[in-house]
Amino acid sequence: MVHMKPVLKILMVEDSAQDAELIRHQMRKSGIMHEARVTEEADAFKLALAEFQPELILSDFSLPHFSGKDALLLRQELAPDIPFILITGSINEETAVEMMKLGSDDYILKENLTKLGVAIRQVIEKKAIQKEKKAAESKLRILSRAIEQNPASIVITDVRGNIEYVNPRFTELAGYTLQEVQGRNPRVLKSGNKSDGFYKNLWRTILSGKEWRGEFENRNKMGEIYYENTIISPITDENGKITHFLAVKEDITDQKKHQKKYALLAQSLESISECVSITDTEDNIVFVNKSFQRTYGYSEDELMGKSIRMVRPPDIEHLQVREILPRTLEGGWKGEIINKKKDGTLFPVLLSSTTVRDENEKLTALIGVASDITEMIRQREELMEAKARAEENNRLKSALLNNMNHEIRTPMNAIMGFSSLMMDANDQEKVAFANIILNSSNQLLGVIDEMILLSRLQSEKVELVVNALNPSECLRDVFAMFNYGQKEKNLTMKLLIPVELSRLCILSDLTKLKQILTNLLTNAWKFTTSGTIEAGLARIGNQLEFYVRDTGMGIPERERSRIFEAFFRSDYAIAQAIGGSGLGLSISKELVGLLGGELYFTSEEGKGSRFAFTLPIGEGCPGGSTEHETREEMDVMNNFSLLIAEDEHINFRYLEILLKGHLRRIDHAKNGEEAIRMASENHYDMILMDIKMPVMDGIEATKLLKAQFPELRIIAQTAYTLPEETAIIRAAGCDDVLCKPIKKESLLKIFQS
Ligand code: ADP
Repeated sequence: MVHMKPVLKILMVEDSAQDAELIRHQMRKSGIMHEARVTEEADAFKLALAEFQPELILSDFSLPHFSGKDALLLRQELAPDIPFILITGSINEETAVEMMKLGSDDYILKENLTKLGVAIRQVIEKKAIQKEKKAAESKLRILSRAIEQNPASIVITDVRGNIEYVNPRFTELAGYTLQEVQGRNPRVLKSGNKSDGFYKNLWRTILSGKEWRGEFENRNKMGEIYYENTIISPITDENGKITHFLAVKEDITDQKKHQKKYALLAQSLESISECVSITDTEDNIVFVNKSFQRTYGYSEDELMGKSIRMVRPPDIEHLQVREILPRTLEGGWKGEIINKKKDGTLFPVLLSSTTVRDENEKLTALIGVASDITEMIRQREELMEAKARAEENNRLKSALLNNMNHEIRTPMNAIMGFSSLMMDANDQEKVAFANIILNSSNQLLGVIDEMILLSRLQSEKVELVVNALNPSECLRDVFAMFNYGQKEKNLTMKLLIPVELSRLCILSDLTKLKQILTNLLTNAWKFTTSGTIEAGLARIGNQLEFYVRDTGMGIPERERSRIFEAFFRSDYAIAQAIGGSGLGLSISKELVGLLGGELYFTSEEGKGSRFAFTLPIGEGCPGGSTEHETREEMDVMNNFSLLIAEDEHINFRYLEILLKGHLRRIDHAKNGEEAIRMASENHYDMILMDIKMPVMDGIEATKLLKAQFPELRIIAQTAYTLPEETAIIRAAGCDDVLCKPIKKESLLKIFQS
């Protein structure tokens, strides 16, 4: 293989033009086409090397200003690849050897110029091969350095897979030197977590000439596990025959550790009970854990990529913008806010939000951890209520003790004070003092009884005696006690019982019911100086309401919340020395509660109050009357005032008992004359006139009364039932006639007509 160019560029170092021509002639003869430049001194030689770029140097040995040796040294220095042939007239052997040692590629004696052509060809050939070899060597050097210095582990095996070469990175990772692993199968370095099938597949791939990629878990010389991503590829010779395998392995242990860490983190986030959400800087959801999906009622698909605003009710948006977001960006925010579920339910959450930043501190995401605190808030409220109750109980207890002390001491002081005064008192004083002592003792006893009752009621030790009872009768009985006292005060007493409730029967404790009614009516009585006291019944659903309304002084707003407290008495009650222990309403409230009802009131200062309580109506009474039975009672007659003219006291008592509780006032006149006097002194709605009376009989009295009070209703009561008699009675002016013995029903009919 001749590496010669068609026209060879030759630099000649020659002082003799004749010799130069001879040499060129010889070359032409040898068929070497060329272009020549001739120099005879150093500078021109150097210039020619740079400019002319010769492919061959032919140099004379001795020149007047230059020498073949100088030229050779310059070539070595400046262009060692250009072949150099020394052409000399004579040369001794030593010089020739020296020149060859210095790098001359050949030398020719001028007398042997015919050999020049062959010599040139050989030298150029040799130089070309040398150059190729050098290039190949350099390539190999680069390649081997690339492999030696590669950051990946490199293993080269023979076709059977036995290691022939490992690079330093392999030694660094695996801990084995080349000597320790040479000839061994790389499989012995693996941790052994792969099956035979896996290796079979690997071999099948690489033997088919393809590349195999995969992950290996390895064990290094110290026994530590490390992971590698491996590419194994076959190396083939120029005929395509596989001679080796090359494995390039990248250490992914850190990556694996991170992966494991991330997997663990993700798993932990999924399994915690708090709702975790991660949003990007645009507020869009990039992660939500299971608990979040469960609590808010959305599926993962419904949330991913959507704005987290969907879980915030619109009215907290300003809080988000003004406080939560700025604080989160500053480092973190924690607090209670309201969130919204998919179904629109609002619920409280405890939220803590923080930021995620990259290595350049740039914000990449926001993390929110929220827990549903509905239950917690409920418990907290309960706890606070319980605390307030306990504090209130404490306060009440000490107030109670203080009051008890006062309520007991006041009558006790009187008893003790007047007892000691008794010693030196005269008879008249003794009587007065004894009265005071008796009253105070009664007062003390009353307080003690009430206190004991209240404390028994509060400790739930009171038993109920439940019986069928008629509420209207019960109310009437209690009301009657007050009705008779109305004369002392300028009061109108009214009892309003709707007809449909008058026969109603309920199951309850009569004594306790009466006690409640007595307490309410007593209060109405005590705190009302003029106007009306009205008591009545009303039906509210399946509850029966008892009420007592008065036109008294009412309860000032500031005292309304306290009137059910034990021993509480209004400033007015204290200032006006209105009797009472302040236990009545507390007891009533407990009693009503015990009977399954509720006690409440409304009041207006200066105008009056209405106290009422409910009792359950229940199923009715076994064997008792029902509200649908005959309407025999009248509803409104409570404002009625009646004069009974009757000489027989027993007859009067009978009528009085019949009408007790129904009328505001029942007066008794023992004869006609007394009846006329009483009627002119008082206003009566009606007179029940007995006909046969001493002093002045009923006929006479009726005539006189009707002449004076034509509007006044006069009903005659007589044992005579003959028609003539009745005619006389009616002629006298009586509006109606009742026959003795008078029945309740006929009496009530008269009042209703
Ligand atoms: P007492 O047994 O001393 O009457 P209560 O517990 O029955 O005590 O009543 C407590 C306070 O409630 C009374 O002192 C009074 O201030 C107020 N009160 C109760 N009933 C009435 C009412 N009908 N009108 C005005 N104040 C009332």
